[in-house]
Amino acid sequence: MDDLSRFCCLNSDCPEHGKRGAGNLTVTSRYGSQKERRMLRCSVCKARFSERKGTPYFDSRLPPETFQSVLDHIAEGCGVRQTGRLCKVDRGTVGRLSRITGEHAHDLHDELVAFSPEHA
Ligand SMILES: [Zn+2]
Repeated sequence: MDDLSRFCCLNSDCPEHGKRGAGNLTVTSRYGSQKERRMLRCSVCKARFSERKGTPYFDSRLPPETFQSVLDHIAEGCGVRQTGRLCKVDRGTVGRLSRITGEHAHDLHDELVAFSPEHA
């Protein structure tokens, strides 16, 4: 059984948007070289998205612009301290994000750009 409690629907129009472990998500398929990535589907709004897409974003308490900026700096090779200073983000938060995104920071950045989180 897949543990989807860490995930939530990414469709901001969905009533279950941002609610983790609401039981509205199912795994529709797997992809990646080791089939290690899952495609998730929300049973409420029928949205489909990659499990990679939203996890770090929703695990952070940062506004999307700030999160994006942190990712940009990490992807450009800035250190945690420098990124924190430039983005005005706590160093611990930058460290956490950098661990979550790891070597995939650049891929993730591309996905997030495609995803284009809306501005409140
Ligand atoms: Zn939904």
